[in-house]
Amino acid sequence: MTKIKDIKTTIYKWTGPIVSPAQNFCTNPTDLLREKGDKMKSFRFHEWLVCEVIADDGTVGIGNAALAPQVTKKAIDCYLKDLVIEEDPFDYEYLWEKMYRNTMAWGRKGIGMIGISAIDLGIWDLMGKIKKKPVFKLIGNRTKEKIPVYASKLYSQPINELQKEAGTYLKEGFKMFKMRFGWGPKDGPEGVKKNINLVNAVREVIGYDKELMLEAYMGWNLEYAKSIIPQLIKFKPKWLEEPVIPDDIAGYSELNALGSIPIAGGEHEFSFYGFKHLLELKAVSFIQYDANRVGGITAAQKINILAEKYNVPVVPHAGQMHNYHLTMANSNCPFSEYFPVSQVEIGNELFYYLFEGEPKPKNGFIDLNDNLPGFGITISDKFKSNFDVIS
Ligand code: MG
Repeated sequence: MTKIKDIKTTIYKWTGPIVSPAQNFCTNPTDLLREKGDKMKSFRFHEWLVCEVIADDGTVGIGNAALAPQVTKKAIDCYLKDLVIEEDPFDYEYLWEKMYRNTMAWGRKGIGMIGISAIDLGIWDLMGKIKKKPVFKLIGNRTKEKIPVYASKLYSQPINELQKEAGTYLKEGFKMFKMRFGWGPKDGPEGVKKNINLVNAVREVIGYDKELMLEAYMGWNLEYAKSIIPQLIKFKPKWLEEPVIPDDIAGYSELNALGSIPIAGGEHEFSFYGFKHLLELKAVSFIQYDANRVGGITAAQKINILAEKYNVPVVPHAGQMHNYHLTMANSNCPFSEYFPVSQVEIGNELFYYLFEGEPKPKNGFIDLNDNLPGFGITISDKFKSNFDVIS
């Protein structure tokens, strides 16, 4: 029997070049505060946590977490790690419950669940490596030949540059696109007009035979969303994402019940219980968990089954291998997000610089390798000099 011998957490801090995004490139929850200056500061992540689950035979499973790596590392090192050492990684369901129930007083959502996610991903990668199979083959195998992916960037920026960027993705063969709004409730009717102009500009380039998704990244409120939705309907968006803060579940339900634009959300929701609540209240028409926050593969698989019962498709947040394996193995995950590779900006891009093995899209599809065990990623040497390593 394999046993988990140790858990090792390492933070990779990006020290390479960083590109500053344009002002008002994306709305966010702090827009409603009175602070000025760098509003996106708390939502930028230039560090990534790697969580290695080391087996007694020397095999190493790699898990990861992107949000608040320094605090997540502490949660793992001080509370979670001892709960899984000496245990059998194939007891993944028991180990998940053991971590969840032992951190119930302060865990459940946020840092606690992100720590559990990083360990759970490491356990699944380890199981794949021991079984010599990719994770998607352990949880359902191929439900699709390839995974359709949407190009997810198109931040708010001057119209000519936005259209140029949309044109690039179109030429690369993408058939689905997601763009961001730049203005919210504090920007008044002038901001509404600017938001509408952004959507119009992208539709001008991609036409109406392609899918377009709209993202507010928690930067609006219910009243603003209700007032702008009627003006967005004519652009036929596939969804409107995170129009209100994740705790405003009643707001989500109200917007989704309008029935005019499907509401998407969940990249800031946690565990089976969080999604059970959203689904019971018909708060979302698309679920967007991220396996490195929601509770790993173990939690994501339970949410997939529940979402299927409610006929709500799951389109995981971000690309990244832990999410691609879930999309490949579940028929209720019709497609996936893809962040086009760019210079380090917000931090989503770091995954490509840190890990080797992420597939590149061709004509709007990505494929997974049948022969790479686990998630099929390793720590890359290519950009090593651009990271500070903190263990
Ligand atoms: Mg999003």
